Amino acid sequence: MLSVVDRNGRRVRMLDAAEVEAMLAAFARPGATAAARTRGADMVRKAQQRNSWFRCACLDGTEPAPILVPVAESHIRRSPHHPDHADACPFEMGDACSAAHARRLREPEPGDVFRLVGAARPGDAAAAVAGARTGRRGVCKTFERDKLSQLLFKLLFDAQVHRVGRGPRGPVEQWEAVYRAARGIPLGEDLPLSDVLHTDPGQLDLLLGCLRSRQRWPRMSRPHGVLVFVAARIEGEVIVSASGVRLVVEGPVAVFGPGRGSRRTGPFIVAVLVASPDGRAPPVPMKAYAQPCWSAEDILPLDSARERETLDILVRFQAWMAEEGYAVGITKPLYDRAKYYFGDKDPDQVVKPDFEGTVHAVAGHRFLRTFVTETMGFDTSEYRAKKVRLKQILTGKPGCYLEHVAHGGAAQAGNDMRFRKDLLAFGKLVMQADKRKTA
Ligand SMILES: [Zn+2]
Repeated sequence: MLSVVDRNGRRVRMLDAAEVEAMLAAFARPGATAAARTRGADMVRKAQQRNSWFRCACLDGTEPAPILVPVAESHIRRSPHHPDHADACPFEMGDACSAAHARRLREPEPGDVFRLVGAARPGDAAAAVAGARTGRRGVCKTFERDKLSQLLFKLLFDAQVHRVGRGPRGPVEQWEAVYRAARGIPLGEDLPLSDVLHTDPGQLDLLLGCLRSRQRWPRMSRPHGVLVFVAARIEGEVIVSASGVRLVVEGPVAVFGPGRGSRRTGPFIVAVLVASPDGRAPPVPMKAYAQPCWSAEDILPLDSARERETLDILVRFQAWMAEEGYAVGITKPLYDRAKYYFGDKDPDQVVKPDFEGTVHAVAGHRFLRTFVTETMGFDTSEYRAKKVRLKQILTGKPGCYLEHVAHGGAAQAGNDMRFRKDLLAFGKLVMQADKRKTA
């Protein structure tokens, strides 16, 4: 499945089964032990020293193939200059692909500054144009978090839109919360996001006018602003907003999650960086990041279209429990939760359940249980192994682990039904235990 290649893509040698296993254990599974990571890291170190890459055969050996690049002698990253991996490739889905990626999944510290652009450099415009020629323009699939996406996550997290039950719901409430949150997020000295944030792509001219009229910009930066809005779909370099506005992006449009073409189904919550490519030319939409969201009216961010169905079922369970006098809180974790599950024991660990839930009795506000729900989006052995690993990590923690199998296809209605039944059974257990205690 993996081979070592030189920088021209010529094969040096195949990895044997034990070596592939070491790479998978180190970089494609959450909860890898320190020992497993060391073995994979040793292989990466050797590849780095010999100036070689890893070629992945997940696209059935078609050329050019997806490439994994050694980083800092101990980690790998997916090469953005080679084809995307297959959707179900373990290296595509790995949360722990590189230490840098793991760091970017950490919750920002209060007061962290989100510097989106540097000062203008003479070469930037040329680089931007060259980038357009080498295919850096238009849609690319991503599982990474660059600065722009980190900013979007911070904004959604602070606005609390990732929580169903306690967070703001409904478009008006949510966007008000977004604007409030933007006031507390600095893009540099004396530049809160709220000063340069617009949420209507049809008002790009208004944002450009505001960038022109602003006198002061943070040191070592240049005029820039951010558009955040809901996109119905993405067509190459054109983002079509839910209200039908077509916004052309000059650089890359990174779309989070699996799937190509029609399988990348919107709506998305999108952040667009608007800035001058070189500091002299007028600002333009330079790059964009898109994350699937719940619906055009609800910007709760999700990792895939399949999670929409999981969340829909969870919300029906929430309504059913509410009728019985129990409040179910549902949270989409936006950051690594290893600290919550492990404390400070293992700083390299990344644990991000698809959904976390809590159950309270409304009368007396009694806290009863937590639970975790995973959306099983693929049916491959590696994917199942990854989820089993997560289950092992989470089972034994206080709470309950539930799975929603969502591969799609003819079996989906049955799988949805099973998930509903599992949820109801869980709810009944929690209520019975509560009634015994309070009887
Ligand atoms: Zn692959």
